[in-house]
Amino acid sequence: MTAPALVCPRDGAALVPERVQRIEVDRCPVCRGFWLDAHELGELESARADEHARRGMVDYAQRVSELRCPVCARPLTAFNYRAHNVELDMCDEEHGYWLDAGEEREVLAVLQERARGMRRIPSAEAAWHRARRGGAGGGLVERVRRFFGR
Ligand SMILES: [Zn+2]
Ligand SMILES: [Zn+2]
Repeated sequence: MTAPALVCPRDGAALVPERVQRIEVDRCPVCRGFWLDAHELGELESARADEHARRGMVDYAQRVSELRCPVCARPLTAFNYRAHNVELDMCDEEHGYWLDAGEEREVLAVLQERARGMRRIPSAEAAWHRARRGGAGGGLVERVRRFFGR
């Protein structure tokens, strides 16, 4: 199944697939922001599900973003995650999330940590499906919270 090329929600440039820390992202050649689809987030986050319990408190705020989802064109929901000093723009339809170039460093550190955790957990896939079943209302919000929860 070949999806049409996504465009950058900031400047409309065609996104280019790129691998970052073994994770496939769609990178904007103009502003260097990138789109990470919900499946990739799921893979990473599933590593989290069975790992050590959430450490510390999750501290974030959410609001409607000025950006729109490159997949469905609905407005994204922006999350400010203060512990990592990043803002994510998530699609409520669970298509994925957008990261601006300036946020990349912080986020990649988190992704790298998740990827390491993934290798230690053979049942990551199963954990992801369990997480999906439990994620009815505000599922993505909960998953993002877990993803960054530490
Ligand atoms: Zn761009
Ligand atoms: Zn969407």
